[in-house]
Amino acid sequence: MNVLAIGAHPDDIEVFCAGTLLKYKQQGHNIFIALTTSGNIGSNEYESREAIAAQREQEQLDAAKLMGAEVRFLRFDDQGLQDTPELRRAIINAIRWANPDVILVNYPEDPSTDHAITGKVVSQVMLSIPGKLIPADEPPIDKNPSLFYYGTPVGIGFLPEVYVDITDVYELKKEALAMHTSQFNWMDVYQTHNLLNILDITDKFRGLQAGCEYAEAFRAFRLHGYMPNFKLLP
Ligand SMILES: [Zn+2]
Repeated sequence: MNVLAIGAHPDDIEVFCAGTLLKYKQQGHNIFIALTTSGNIGSNEYESREAIAAQREQEQLDAAKLMGAEVRFLRFDDQGLQDTPELRRAIINAIRWANPDVILVNYPEDPSTDHAITGKVVSQVMLSIPGKLIPADEPPIDKNPSLFYYGTPVGIGFLPEVYVDITDVYELKKEALAMHTSQFNWMDVYQTHNLLNILDITDKFRGLQAGCEYAEAFRAFRLHGYMPNFKLLP
């Protein structure tokens, strides 16, 4: 199978669903990552948006290398993501590029606007994946992927439907998140907990709910023709 994780920012994948991606990889599946923004305002320690984006793309590539994933950057502006024809086209291209059986993406009701727009647009272009007349650059694909939403920051407003036990890949997930070195100082500016600490608390809490040590939580997208196949989760 091909599995595509789509996120709004470099580190979204590592925070919310890298454990599940690593489980897929362990089972011999191909894993892909697409990001709508390169997090180009996500630090005050750089002189320009370009410099931050370059740093964060490199961090994402390092994390992806550790996980064995391919990456595609869509490069829209951080904290300014809008539902536009350009974004829709870029997301359709990314989905067709990965030719996925499963898609994981941010939750459309996530309090972060970039997260919410990413989740919403991915959901709304599902019917466009097979259409040859839809504006896009990649050719149509004929799969009907199952789409699952991963959690929100610290789990706020997210009621899980299904969990993936990530206990045996948790240390590697943490290592992948640790690749995002620029985010540790930056997030300490406005967050009360260190990023790795947040991961530990959140994934342990989901594990508590799921009856294992560490877990990631998901909800499913449902649309006629695109009903979720829960058996595809690892
Ligand atoms: Zn994010």
